[in-house]
Amino acid sequence: MGLLSEIGLVLLICGIPVAQGFSYERPEEWRNENPSCDGKSQSPINIDYNENDVLMQDIISLKWNGYENTPDIMTGANNGHTIKIIPKWADESRRPYLSGGPLSSRYVLQESHFHWGADNNVGSEHTVNGKKFVLEAHMVHWKLDYGSFSAAVEQPDGLAVVGSFYDINNIQDKCSCAVNDIVNIASILSEEGKDADIVPFPISKFDVVNTTDVIASYQGSLTTPGCNEAVTWMLAIHGYPISEVQMKVLRSVQLHHGENHNYRPVQPLNGRQVSFFH
Ligand SMILES: [Zn+2]
Repeated sequence: MGLLSEIGLVLLICGIPVAQGFSYERPEEWRNENPSCDGKSQSPINIDYNENDVLMQDIISLKWNGYENTPDIMTGANNGHTIKIIPKWADESRRPYLSGGPLSSRYVLQESHFHWGADNNVGSEHTVNGKKFVLEAHMVHWKLDYGSFSAAVEQPDGLAVVGSFYDINNIQDKCSCAVNDIVNIASILSEEGKDADIVPFPISKFDVVNTTDVIASYQGSLTTPGCNEAVTWMLAIHGYPISEVQMKVLRSVQLHHGENHNYRPVQPLNGRQVSFFH
């Protein structure tokens, strides 16, 4: 482990007590302990999109590499702020990574987690033309060149997060395969602080993997303290289906202080560019 990654690890460990204490009831107070949360490139944002927006033709397409590799171990965890799915591979060369699109290098997958709200009118962190979705899934990746997640999170181009949205659709004629897994995991992890080994499944089960949807991309931050401005965001702008029954299971997950939501409100764009590509 290099010096940079050691420093990053120490910072991350030191950051945990602060991060554990944050509240979704009072996001405006995050900046008191975490100055970055008051930065000028914060996430989430509202994405303004209309079909006439020019898609970037000069950008090469985003490549999803190795997402069909079933993890050797998969852990689920309820950290009081979200449900996390952490996949691990004995052979690191089998770890999935993103390349192409707006990314200049390889970004390897770290974990997935979810944001939701108290009812069907709220839930997602990002909004599209003001529309809030019931659920937003995040796949967190870090730039392999930096050697570790904890080192990458301290760099302006250290992370790449893929976001996908879900809409209520009780008639699921189309298989939304990973949703069933997510809901099963949520039911196991309803208690705050609980973690469990789960039956590994390939990340390619997530609908967004290999998507042909329009992807919105911009430079932003983590949406939880420390709010590090380290993230290239890529969001598929249309929702995938989830049923009301499935959302009920997710909403029964116990969050810190009995909170009923885990989304941060949208933040000012401050002149940042949002680009769109397929
Ligand atoms: Zn997130």
